[in-house]
Amino acid sequence: MIELASYVGGEWVKGTSTSDLFNPSTEETVAKTGTAGVDFGKALTHARSTGGPALRAMNFAERAELLKAAAKAIHAHRDELMKLAIENAGNTRSDAKFDIDGATGTLQYYGDLGSQLGATNVIEDAEAFQLARSPRLYGAHAWVPRRGVAVHVNAFNFPAWGLAEKAACAWLAGMPVISKPATSTAVVAWRITQILIEAKVLPDGALSLIAGSAGNLLDQLTGQDVLAFTGSSDTGTMLRSGKTVTSQNVRVNVEADSLNAAVLGPDVGAGAETLNLFIGDVFRDMTQKAGQKCTAIRRVYVPKDRVSDVVALLEERLASIKVGNPADESVTMGPVATAQQLRDVRAGIGKLATCAKIVRGGADPVEGIGAPKNKGYFVAPTLLVSDSPSVTDVAHSHEVFGPVATIMAYDGTAASVSALVCGGGGGLVSSVYSDDKDFVRNTVLGIAPFHGRVTIGSEKIAGQAIPPGTVMPSMIHGGPGRAGSGEELGGKRGLAFYMQRVALQGDRALVEGVLGKR
Ligand code: NAP
Repeated sequence: MIELASYVGGEWVKGTSTSDLFNPSTEETVAKTGTAGVDFGKALTHARSTGGPALRAMNFAERAELLKAAAKAIHAHRDELMKLAIENAGNTRSDAKFDIDGATGTLQYYGDLGSQLGATNVIEDAEAFQLARSPRLYGAHAWVPRRGVAVHVNAFNFPAWGLAEKAACAWLAGMPVISKPATSTAVVAWRITQILIEAKVLPDGALSLIAGSAGNLLDQLTGQDVLAFTGSSDTGTMLRSGKTVTSQNVRVNVEADSLNAAVLGPDVGAGAETLNLFIGDVFRDMTQKAGQKCTAIRRVYVPKDRVSDVVALLEERLASIKVGNPADESVTMGPVATAQQLRDVRAGIGKLATCAKIVRGGADPVEGIGAPKNKGYFVAPTLLVSDSPSVTDVAHSHEVFGPVATIMAYDGTAASVSALVCGGGGGLVSSVYSDDKDFVRNTVLGIAPFHGRVTIGSEKIAGQAIPPGTVMPSMIHGGPGRAGSGEELGGKRGLAFYMQRVALQGDRALVEGVLGKR
């Protein structure tokens, strides 16, 4: 039994009362944690007064070395972290690699970016320019680190990547981090924090961890602090409208849920490489992490006359899935993460069944391979089909966060499929699979304003395509509307949230001196 602690004020603190964290395959308790009695004010003060100044005393190139060292330290414990992810989150080894290698890859990416930014603490935003008639009077914009603390509240599905992708940007920008993983799967984030603290790769105060409820942490934020949240829309809305957050104008980024779509173009025939890519992406997103990915494809739009072919191809792939305890190596899809998740997914399948027909799987209990009888939060991969979808259908408004997707027929035109996709109210990513230039252009431009990212799957890149569900640090992540209206990552753009953009105007030599150019 692991007893988790929070890392605040430069020391490990256990809560005075705890609750259990479970193995979702066996329902056995794997850890205990709690934050009652933890001094959140001390955590904030320590981060602001010790971690922040230490990070800001370094330039980008020096902070880049911290990120690279953090990536190395985490990678050195990869096997141990994967074991914890299997036990506490029901990940298969492949799911766990996706999370942990995503964490180290993102830290390494931002480490490399920091090295390129070099020995400066200020980023110039576009070129400086002459402001008036005199060539002496100059205007410029610069990014400087904020003086507060970056509070990161993360979802249960990516305990490693969630911590690292947010922290990489904050640390490189020069802000200390207080990370709060979701309680149910906090073991991996807790262990990563231990690894980083033990390896002494970060300055004191640069990383704190809240292993449980956030208590009154958010009530003590100020206008120099930032709050980056990932999780459900409901929690995002609640945190964004918190009294202190609004009265102090705390900068907030929300990454919420999303009904990501995949569109098959009318030109894609049987046996085409583009069709194989499309089927592979839908199949992967339904089953990887048991469908618990914010970027997973939930809505699948297929021309009316191709629906039965697509259903047959997906059914063939889904038949190979072995649901069970990932500790058993034959298992290819684990359980959902918690008992509440299981209840929500089952109820969600029931809701979807009011507008679509279940053709595979469903909400019935599943006996998991390698799990004790009647134990574990298992769901069968579930495929539904709707022959005449409408934007008012629940499939366009309710996210089922599990191994579930709905195939919906459309008439083969870019205009009608764009209207259906946009009916999801704004998303993180959607993908269009077609080799017809006009269809791709019209559909991509039709749906782009409602998305943070659109991927195009086609024959020429089929062998090297990056799946839409994979978030790359070089590409922005986030989306408008129900996806939270946030934006993370995207290379240098990811630093902006943690920095203040300031306009500078005055004598050219002095302005350029501030920018470190003279
Ligand atoms: P959640 O229930 O909204 O919880 C998210 C986080 O918020 C957890 O750390 C939770 O802590 C915390 N939280 C809840 N109430 C809080 C409060 N009053 N004050 C401070 N923190 C609070 O979401 P989830 O079930 O973990 O995650 C699933 C959802 O996240 C899905 O809807 C998915 O689409 C979305 N998601 C989005 C992205 C993205 O990048 N857009 C990525 C992953 C997941 P406790 O665990 O301690 O309650």
